[in-house]
Amino acid sequence: MRAVDLIAAKRDGRELQADELSWLVSGFTSGEIPDYQTSAWLMSVFFQGMTSTETANLTRAMVASGKRLDLSSVGPFVADKHSTGGVGDKTTLVVAPLVAAAGVPVAKMSGRGLGFSGGTIDKLESISGFRTQLSPDDFVSAVRRVGLVVAAQSADLAPADGKLYALRDVTATIESIPLIASSVMSKKIAAGANIVALDVKVGRGAFMKTLEEAQALAVAMRDIGRDVGLQVRAVLSAMDQPLGWAVGNALEVAEAAQTLKGEGPADLVEVSFTLGAHLLNMAGKVSTVEEGIALMRETLESGKGIAKFRQFVQNQGGDASFIEDPDLLPQAAMRQELSARKAGYIAAIDAEAIGRASVQIGAGRVVKGAAIDHAVGFVVHKKIGDAVGAGENLATIYAQREENANSITPALEAAFVISDIPVEPPPSVLEVVA
Ligand code: URA
Repeated sequence: MRAVDLIAAKRDGRELQADELSWLVSGFTSGEIPDYQTSAWLMSVFFQGMTSTETANLTRAMVASGKRLDLSSVGPFVADKHSTGGVGDKTTLVVAPLVAAAGVPVAKMSGRGLGFSGGTIDKLESISGFRTQLSPDDFVSAVRRVGLVVAAQSADLAPADGKLYALRDVTATIESIPLIASSVMSKKIAAGANIVALDVKVGRGAFMKTLEEAQALAVAMRDIGRDVGLQVRAVLSAMDQPLGWAVGNALEVAEAAQTLKGEGPADLVEVSFTLGAHLLNMAGKVSTVEEGIALMRETLESGKGIAKFRQFVQNQGGDASFIEDPDLLPQAAMRQELSARKAGYIAAIDAEAIGRASVQIGAGRVVKGAAIDHAVGFVVHKKIGDAVGAGENLATIYAQREENANSITPALEAAFVISDIPVEPPPSVLEVVA
């Protein structure tokens, strides 16, 4: 086979066969097929799409690029959750410790930032000493010991996704249902959990801008999971404004800890409790989702969630003292306030614009493998529906240099739309695809 022929076939809208996809994936993973040809193929998938058979075959080939872990010795149910990408989305850091503390082990493979959206691995790497690269044995022993592990793709675990993900990040090939579905589900299948809650984000700050696209992505991922015997539920959640208050790696880790201590933003708590409740329900810990929400709340209020978070951080080599003192996380050199130009009610906060601005000041990558700045980002002080006075503080920018903060100020100002009439706060959870 020749890569150029498979690129041309996809460019012209042909369905690729299982052996062709597995040849492409293994050639790219081993380095025999160069980035430029893989990028051209990704772009042709972006424009031509894939049939459901092709997406399933691509996912299988991606899983087969590494090991598929067997977690049956951990317990009858091992949970995983995954978000399709949003701005300020630190739900993993809240859901996973709470579910683990409620008695259902969580074993999760996460990704780095992708385009304007953040990634759990980048967030966790804000914590001094925290190891995200684990061997398959270390991954399994971590979930056995602590009941919770989160790791990145590695040479052994979903390596094809690790490489494709990094390439998609910088080649404008992220927003594609088959590429997202295969990326997410290859990680879920390889990591070995048998119950999976997917958080499919919808809106301006998500890769799926409409409910219909999000439903199609949810169904595609559910079907891939079902085919290999996983229980999968997808929660469609709103991503028009940033989730919670913080955007940026260390700032989001601090907000997750604050949330586990009972002082989190309402939308983050609601989405996290809903995802966790579905996992607890699929594991048979509770008989309804409502009971699951009550158990999530009880686990948070009892302090068991933050205790599990500390144990998880320490088990992966991290210094957990930031839980008491968030100033121990990476700190930006300066802060600058963004003031409201007029009084009124917040009608919109363009999450995509906020995410892009965070990448511009260093929180994400514009070239493959680039270092990121864990300290920078924003904390928003107003959410949709809040009243605001003229000159009041809308957000704090955390940057390394004044010119960086100034360079994004116009985009941030435009991201906040202020209305003269009251605005209803939007719902955070939209629907569930089971
Ligand atoms: N999360 C992933 O793991 N992959 C994607 O493509 C998007 C979000």
